[in-house]
Amino acid sequence: MLRFGLACLFAVVSLSAQPLVIVAIDGLRHDFIEVHKMQTLARLRVQGATVAHMQPSFPSTTFPNFHSMATGLEPSRHGLVGMVFYDRARKSRFNYQTTSTDGSWYGGEPFWETAEEAGRTVATFFWPGTDAGVNGKWPTYFRRYDWRVQHDEKVAQVGEWLALTKRRPDAIVVYFSDIDSMGHRHGPLALETVEAAKKVDASVARIAEMASKAGATLLIVSDHGQSAVEGHLDLTPLADFRGCIAANEAPITQLYCDDPARVYAELKPKEKGWKIYRRAEIPAHLNYRDNPRIGDLLIVPDRPWIVQVLPVGDGSTAVPHLKGMHGYDPVANREMDALLIGVGGPFKQGARVERARTVDVAPLILHLLGVAAPTGIDGDFNRVRGLLR
Ligand SMILES: [Zn+2]
Repeated sequence: MLRFGLACLFAVVSLSAQPLVIVAIDGLRHDFIEVHKMQTLARLRVQGATVAHMQPSFPSTTFPNFHSMATGLEPSRHGLVGMVFYDRARKSRFNYQTTSTDGSWYGGEPFWETAEEAGRTVATFFWPGTDAGVNGKWPTYFRRYDWRVQHDEKVAQVGEWLALTKRRPDAIVVYFSDIDSMGHRHGPLALETVEAAKKVDASVARIAEMASKAGATLLIVSDHGQSAVEGHLDLTPLADFRGCIAANEAPITQLYCDDPARVYAELKPKEKGWKIYRRAEIPAHLNYRDNPRIGDLLIVPDRPWIVQVLPVGDGSTAVPHLKGMHGYDPVANREMDALLIGVGGPFKQGARVERARTVDVAPLILHLLGVAAPTGIDGDFNRVRGLLR
């Protein structure tokens, strides 16, 4: 009994002695360390272990993939099938800018819920869904999303959480969006994106130093990469879209129509540089068929273009003209690949895994926290096991 008690005490002490700091960098393409000369990440990659190519799920956009990283599920299973989509049963639209704080849109069990249920304490400074109350639960410490918050405040908060003497978090999550935002506005290789990459790299340096001093394990993850946009295509004049609701995700368009067969028949012969799929025909490798939130029809550009459809009176709005975009087929377009780095703790110095997937992040995080992952998820810990000692 005494031995058991001591063992438990030891387990608790050793867990809290080595917290996990997770830095999530939106739009960190697999080659941006070299392309943008991110010195801190380059150094951390040498000190730690890396997945050279993290393949996102389709669509390779932020909310679907952050929730895939959180739950280990494909978007068609966790239900965030896009940044924008329509739900016929709810008769309403999901839009990441307006409805993403409503946890009832999110399915699956995110890692912060699994971890806290197992007795771990989680703190989050942005990560899609962490402030939404998914399944009616929030991390012990969390911040509500506010794009105006500066890096200094995030770095300082990580430091404060690490310094807590009472209820110090076992996992601390912090999110940076600069590289993705500047890439959209100016292009993935633009000077402004180089500057954003430098700024993020400098903040990672400060967090890495604090993590190292605290004896924490550091995990750097990203949701997708980015391509330079070659053009915008408005398909509205090509068919009669009356009776349709469009969700223009940028770069893809979902259509929810009263008569999808008619619209399909009108559009199919006009395919040029883009493809239209009925839901059941969406290529199997995209794992993107089995959810009624996916449009009856899906339009996907062949190359890094942005397509849109604006049916009269459906309330959809034009996609802004962007110079960088992601969301493309992650198998056909390898610029969608992100990367992952782990330093300290169980990570093996110099280990390199060539390829894993965003759905594998949840089982990896839970493993690092000593918590069993939910069963039946799409993520596979075996794909990232090579990172560890
Ligand atoms: Zn983006």
